[in-house]
Amino acid sequence: MIQLYQPLNFLGSIYRDIRQATIDLEMMFDILGKDPEIADRPGARPLAVDGGHLRFDNVHFSYDPEREILKGISFDVPPGKTLAIVGPSGAGKSTISRLIFRFYEPASGAITIDGQNIDAVTQQSLRAAIGMVPQDTVLFNDTIGYNIRYGRADATDAEVHEAARLAQIDHFIESVPGGYGAQVGERGLKLSGGEKQRVAIARTILKAPPILVLDEATSALDSFTEGEIQDALDRVSKGRTTLVIAHRLSTVVNADEILVLDHGRIVERGSHAALLIHNGVYAAMWNRQNEVRRAEEVLRRAAQEE
Ligand code: ATP
Repeated sequence: MIQLYQPLNFLGSIYRDIRQATIDLEMMFDILGKDPEIADRPGARPLAVDGGHLRFDNVHFSYDPEREILKGISFDVPPGKTLAIVGPSGAGKSTISRLIFRFYEPASGAITIDGQNIDAVTQQSLRAAIGMVPQDTVLFNDTIGYNIRYGRADATDAEVHEAARLAQIDHFIESVPGGYGAQVGERGLKLSGGEKQRVAIARTILKAPPILVLDEATSALDSFTEGEIQDALDRVSKGRTTLVIAHRLSTVVNADEILVLDHGRIVERGSHAALLIHNGVYAAMWNRQNEVRRAEEVLRRAAQEE
């Protein structure tokens, strides 16, 4: 057994090294402002943001021609409004966020911000206008302070601390040896998924982008952490055009519009209340999630009483 385990363990560490290298490569492209796949069109102009009105107009997309992933997606997020996208795993939710960043281009249809097709603007200006809180935040092997300041390099210490406070990560930072100067990463402090996401939120608060894309973590968070992250996200999305890719329905209740995506198509859309009355896919998802929550609560209470 040990003989079998050791090579597997070894393979695991190689896998981690390769994964780290891939992440570093992505960061390098991010830092250099380059993308391996999509380049600026000749004559591309900077995006002129005026409120941040985001539209998808009949967007079709496939990673490979054999299999269409998005099959005619249209939506409209007026300035300052929030759109939530829910649906089963593999429905195409994160693909929508990748298209907004122009990591890929639609096969047909248009994505516009304030009336400008995003394929006609410079990548640099597009990505400057969008703040992304990804599912799985990658941190630099540097200090926590640096990781937050990455949102805006010229931010003062006071601004970094204020962003940490709004993202509700300040108490955690102040409790670790070294505080904002504490190293994170391989040889430093290991942050939990929820802590990393709050660092990403603090970064985004500093960046103060007109458009925000939140790709919620799939991993289960305990309800206290979930509540703290929700408060932080509510703060950062206030007054900004926001797209939430939601895995927990509790985060979408207050969205102006909710899209239910399934196999690349919008199968239902509306407000939380309207979708519950409609009593379709969304209502079924909502009821199921509440049942799971109730069951978890019963188990938690039983464990406490033991
Ligand atoms: P989840 O809730 O699990 O995050 P999702 O709705 O966000 O799922 P996407 O990540 O958008 O789903 O993926 C949609 C489909 O596209 C999936 O079937 C996935 O396998 C496929 N896909 C995603 N990325 C790629 C890629 N780089 N190359 C090829 N296919 C991909």
